[in-house]
Amino acid sequence: MQINVIGGGLAGSEAAWQVAKRGERVVLYESRPLKMTPAHKTSFFAELVCSNSLKSKELHHPHGILKKELEMLGSIVMESARFASLKGGKALIVDRKVFSEYITSKIEKNENIEVRREEVKEIPEGISIIATGPLTHKDFADELKNYLGENFLYFYDAVSPIISSDSLNMGKIFKGDRFGLDDSYLNAPMTEYEYKRFYEELINAEIHEPKEFEKIPYFEGCLPIEVMAKRGYETLRWGPLRPDGFEYMNFKERPYAIVQLRPENKERTMYSLVGFQTQLKIKEQERIFRMIPGLENAEFLRYGKVHRNIYINSPKLLNPDLSLKKNPDLFFAGQITGTEGYVEAAAGGIVAGINAFLRKSRGATLVFPRNTAIGALINYIVSADFENFSPMNVNLGLFEEIPKFKDKMEKRRYVAQRALKEMEKFVSENFADLKEEVKNA
Ligand SMILES: Cc1cc2nc3c(=O)[nH]c(=O)nc-3n(C[C@H](O)[C@H](O)[C@H](O)COP(=O)(O)OP(=O)(O)OC[C@H]3O[C@@H](n4cnc5c(N)ncnc54)[C@H](O)[C@@H]3O)c2cc1C
Repeated sequence: MQINVIGGGLAGSEAAWQVAKRGERVVLYESRPLKMTPAHKTSFFAELVCSNSLKSKELHHPHGILKKELEMLGSIVMESARFASLKGGKALIVDRKVFSEYITSKIEKNENIEVRREEVKEIPEGISIIATGPLTHKDFADELKNYLGENFLYFYDAVSPIISSDSLNMGKIFKGDRFGLDDSYLNAPMTEYEYKRFYEELINAEIHEPKEFEKIPYFEGCLPIEVMAKRGYETLRWGPLRPDGFEYMNFKERPYAIVQLRPENKERTMYSLVGFQTQLKIKEQERIFRMIPGLENAEFLRYGKVHRNIYINSPKLLNPDLSLKKNPDLFFAGQITGTEGYVEAAAGGIVAGINAFLRKSRGATLVFPRNTAIGALINYIVSADFENFSPMNVNLGLFEEIPKFKDKMEKRRYVAQRALKEMEKFVSENFADLKEEVKNA
């Protein structure tokens, strides 16, 4: 029996390719052009729905490491991106038409891939990969919701920015929880003057204008911070920035407002700003959130956003090989697993594709090394706190045990070298067929 891949986006195309190149038969289901999503405009596989940038290609940048690793694993997305690349400085910019046409032609010509242009409404029998993306059609989303459980499929995300812990000025920040329950939170106190300046900038900030299909209802418990602020000068002080609960701290002067930061991983290399889900433009997030005392030099690992996005609770549902705990023959890949970004989707496609192939041919699957960019990203989505799970892009905070470096660039080089060494070892131990790819990457 063949392996089914549902969804011919970035993740599904990559997954189908990885299975087919190893000699197994694949049926790739794609609803377009018969049924389009609100964002796709063509019938091509791996269509880039918005920007034509695949982000940094510099090796000291986590996105650059991720791309290199994909190339070492013989990624069709990266092969096509190189073919379609335009001059773009530090970023890998592509001609979107050439990019998608290239992948489409490779897939359609591959003898091991049968393309079926149809909307899937039920989970198929046998080994399958679900890669239907952030705009999964409604009937299939409902099917997934029934199968996975009411509380484990989300239709929107509302995420706060994540800051690298080593960019925080701890001289201005203190540890402690409201009402003193534990000390895992960080707190940035503000004077009245600092709060006033911050508030004025926040209510006048430039906001990302969503397209019609991106407009979503706001939930009272999860309002964007700027919407909350516009309700009144005091609203944030009664909400996420309330200064009370810290009486046990014996402040010399009681803070007027307090911004809380919550750890995003066990290593505490990443902290999110509690209650700061936002639709502010990226440059506005940087400008205004750096006004918070202690965050003057904040390095943003993820920006806040509020948008339509169908994704599952991966920490609760998935194994580290991207198979479902409840049914190890069913794999998930791409944005629907809670990764964020084109190249991240392709990475999920590689992991799910290789593992679906291995499940079929050998029974056992592989977990990617923890300190490769692919392994760090997958590790995050399967082991994050499931109660606060929100989508994640690849970033430096996902890698573990980075020794202290004075120089930021040295730290980035260390992470890159370690990741590529681990990936090279992993490839040579597991994929004799990829020797050429490693050499050429
Ligand atoms: C509006 C928007 C803009 C974005 N902009 C960017 C950006 O600029 N840069 C960036 O890095 N990331 C961006 N993203 C995030 C993400 O990188 C992309 O969504 C990416 O395409 C995700 O890849 P994927 O393979 O998971 O999903 P997709 O590429 O969306 O692929 C899913 C495929 O499944 C098909 N499908 C859905 N349901 C069914 C079904 N029931 N049966 C059969 N086929 C089905 C769809 O037609 C689609 O082709 C954006 C996301 C959205 C929604």
